[in-house]
Amino acid sequence: MNTVVNYFRSLMLWELLMGLKLTGRYLFAKKITVQYPEEKTPQSPRFRGLHALRRYPNGEERCIACKLCEAVCPALAITIESEQRADGTRRTTRYDIDLFKCIYCGFCEESCPVDSIVETRIFEYHFEKRGENIMTKEQLLTIGDKYEQQLASDRAQDARYR
Ligand code: SF4
Ligand code: SF4
Repeated sequence: MNTVVNYFRSLMLWELLMGLKLTGRYLFAKKITVQYPEEKTPQSPRFRGLHALRRYPNGEERCIACKLCEAVCPALAITIESEQRADGTRRTTRYDIDLFKCIYCGFCEESCPVDSIVETRIFEYHFEKRGENIMTKEQLLTIGDKYEQQLASDRAQDARYR
């Protein structure tokens, strides 16, 4: 019986009709294609993009060179060197992130006790020269300064859901 049904189905081009039915359904459905880069999808406050180092409102670096982020990084992408200041506080003298190694897992951000290393919403960036994949402390602080308002509001928003 099945053989007969299959024979008539193939004769009537049944599979083709089923395929065309599916095509027809999506032909008139609401389009969901996003015209990037003119259009962009919404981002979560937890979006994990390019890194930044934050400061306190008085301009002091938040990072206390505890090296927790360096230890937790599964890709070994972070390199930190530090020294003690004259006032007894400890600060980094070097804070590099190799973006070729980074897998944007967010562990560094999660481990930081002072909310210093964070991941921003920036995802559109590129490198043109060898070595530009290494983000230095100065570059990270500059990004942090530039996007501080957004970073602070994202963290406040995120805290409400924890
Ligand atoms: S996001 Fe993950 S892989 Fe990238 S630097 Fe942080 S801990 Fe390392
Ligand atoms: S960024 Fe945070 S976790 Fe990493 S060394 Fe500085 S204070 Fe410690």
